[in-house]
Amino acid sequence: MTNALDIRAAEASQHIMGRTGPWELVIGLEVHAQVASNTKLFSGARVGFGAGPNEQVSLVDAAMPGMLPVLNRFCVEQAVKTGLGLRAQINRFSRFDRKNYFYPDLPQGYQISQLFHPIVGEGEVLVEKDDGTAITVRIERLHLEQDAGKSIHDLDPNATYVDLNRAGTALMEIVSKPDIRSSDEAVAYFKKLRTILVYLGTCDGDMEKGNMRADCNVSVRRPGQPFGTRCEIKNVNSFRFMQQAIEYEARRQIEILEDGGAIDQETRLFDAVKVETRSMRSKEEAHDYRYFPDPDLLPLELEEAWIEAIRQHLVELPDNKKARFISEYGLSSYDAGVLISDQARADYFEAAAKGRDAKLVANWVTNALLSRLAEAGQEIGESFITPEHIAGLVELIENETISSKIAKTVFEHMWDEKGILSPAEIVEKHGLKQVTDTGAIEKAIDEIIAANPDKAEAVKDKPQALGWFVGQVMKATGGKANPAAVNELLKAKLGVE
Ligand code: ADP
Ligand code: MG
Repeated sequence: MTNALDIRAAEASQHIMGRTGPWELVIGLEVHAQVASNTKLFSGARVGFGAGPNEQVSLVDAAMPGMLPVLNRFCVEQAVKTGLGLRAQINRFSRFDRKNYFYPDLPQGYQISQLFHPIVGEGEVLVEKDDGTAITVRIERLHLEQDAGKSIHDLDPNATYVDLNRAGTALMEIVSKPDIRSSDEAVAYFKKLRTILVYLGTCDGDMEKGNMRADCNVSVRRPGQPFGTRCEIKNVNSFRFMQQAIEYEARRQIEILEDGGAIDQETRLFDAVKVETRSMRSKEEAHDYRYFPDPDLLPLELEEAWIEAIRQHLVELPDNKKARFISEYGLSSYDAGVLISDQARADYFEAAAKGRDAKLVANWVTNALLSRLAEAGQEIGESFITPEHIAGLVELIENETISSKIAKTVFEHMWDEKGILSPAEIVEKHGLKQVTDTGAIEKAIDEIIAANPDKAEAVKDKPQALGWFVGQVMKATGGKANPAAVNELLKAKLGVE
């Protein structure tokens, strides 16, 4: 793996040109993912979206005197599952620490986290890029911690409200090594991480609900030089913001360095309206959190058999599914990648491909269907066109009832009619059946040759011109003539080899 990374570094992917030459970006992400769980990390209070303020707060979450945290076994299982999905080391021994700081939405006065002994150690994520190449981003660690509550400043001009519904919710912090070299790679990594977590069912991955947010560590260097000083952009919660924040921050650092300045290590915020990052605090102002082991919680010791049982029941991971789609269905790496990026898509494809030409099915799903759904802003699970419909359409192409060209028309009818009629019924209703009756095709050919004697003569020396005749015949037959039959007959009649 290290070798692959060295080679990748030598290829020096995507550089940003400054006034004085090229710069390379170095990026490491700390992703906070909310654990998919009905209850909180150390209390039995519900976790849910849309509850009224402070309706989901137990005495533990509110940090009433004498309350004791009790570790949620299911959240631990989710963290282990995630670690396995990241091909990471699962630590049999881990421990919870208190991270002390004061904030109104943190009633305990500390956050329970895992600094010294995280539950998951080193792992890796394979990240495919749009250009078809792939990189491996190494994972440094994954640890469990509590989320804080929310301070609401915009309800009253003179007061801040505190909502503790989120306080105590379980988060997984997933820290990458500084292996990312461009904003595109950062976004691709974040997306892949999301796909893996959603497959595993360990995080809902709903960005709009804040299920995943990332702290982006960014530095720049001359290619081949040691790492530069980094800045950390806090709480980036969308793919687009990540792209913008990293690009802005890299340019800011390059300008400072090219002017002979130095980068101050600091924590910055991304302003999505102005599309810029702003200083929040410098390293000197960094908190001293006075971490120490939480005396209310025993160290967490996992049994090998328990970890093994989770491993046995792990779902098929995106990378494995992709490899299987390529080998089992003969799909291209690109199509397989598009289909597996979302579990519902992958399931849809497999349901439609049963017993059919799978490559053809993949084409119809990734091109026609997905672009129509995207235009309509719909998910594949909401599609009126079912896998059975796509299978039916492909079957009609396979048995030559319709040509691929007419299939596009059939698909448009399927879409417009919201899946009420089957593809076969649509072909029947609109008279779209392919004409294989050679008599009808011959008649059309004879008429076209008669009307264009000069072209018919010229094509004998210039067989490429046959395409024009094919086009005319298709037009004359309303696109329904069987293309193979048209070609055969045209060649015979025109005397073209
Ligand atoms: P800390 O514990 O002080 O936050 P870490 O070493 O744990 O620092 O790194 C935090 C994150 O910053 C990691 O994701 C890591 O990959 C990234 N990182 C470390 N050094 C650099 C650097 N020079 N440039 C960009 N990212 C970096
Ligand atoms: Mg950190």
